[in-house]
Amino acid sequence: MALTLFARRPDPAEPPAPEPAPWPEIGETWKPEGVTIVQRYYNQAHAVVLVYTSSRGYRHNVDCLGCHFVKASNQHTNHGWLELKDAAEAANDHATTCRALPRDITARPDDDTARERLLKWVSGCRSRVADEQIWIESLDLLRLSLQRTDDWILAALQQLALDHPEMLRAEPSEYSDRTDNRYFAQCYPES
Ligand SMILES: [Zn+2]
Repeated sequence: MALTLFARRPDPAEPPAPEPAPWPEIGETWKPEGVTIVQRYYNQAHAVVLVYTSSRGYRHNVDCLGCHFVKASNQHTNHGWLELKDAAEAANDHATTCRALPRDITARPDDDTARERLLKWVSGCRSRVADEQIWIESLDLLRLSLQRTDDWILAALQQLALDHPEMLRAEPSEYSDRTDNRYFAQCYPES
């Protein structure tokens, strides 16, 4: 009987090694759809400041993934958008002063949400004076939250023009070598 008292108990199983916590995604490797990340800077708290292009690739935009700072235009040039060197300078300047912690990376919205955001944007382009032509390039600052390709956006605009003709009008492109439409946010009707 005594033997059983001293019987060796089996060694408790080694507790499984804890899974290393996933390194939070702060934008170091983030490649949102429809956007080309050109440069990354780190701010003072290791949040990433992005320089990116989207539609047509010639406009550069700056977006801080810490504090929401954005920059997409430059009043000092005739064309008004940022060349790469301007954007790089703005991103670097911002990164040297910003102390915001990395914020959560924007999740890719589902199609309905993306369409809603597009509709809201079109709605915001409308004026009381005249129809406003809208350019996909003007969407640049929305592209990190939209996360869709140009083709997806153009198809969605086409559909919006069918669903909301009072808000958005499509016209064939004036250039014969282009098959895409031009889009106009319709002027508000006179009340
Ligand atoms: Zn910042």
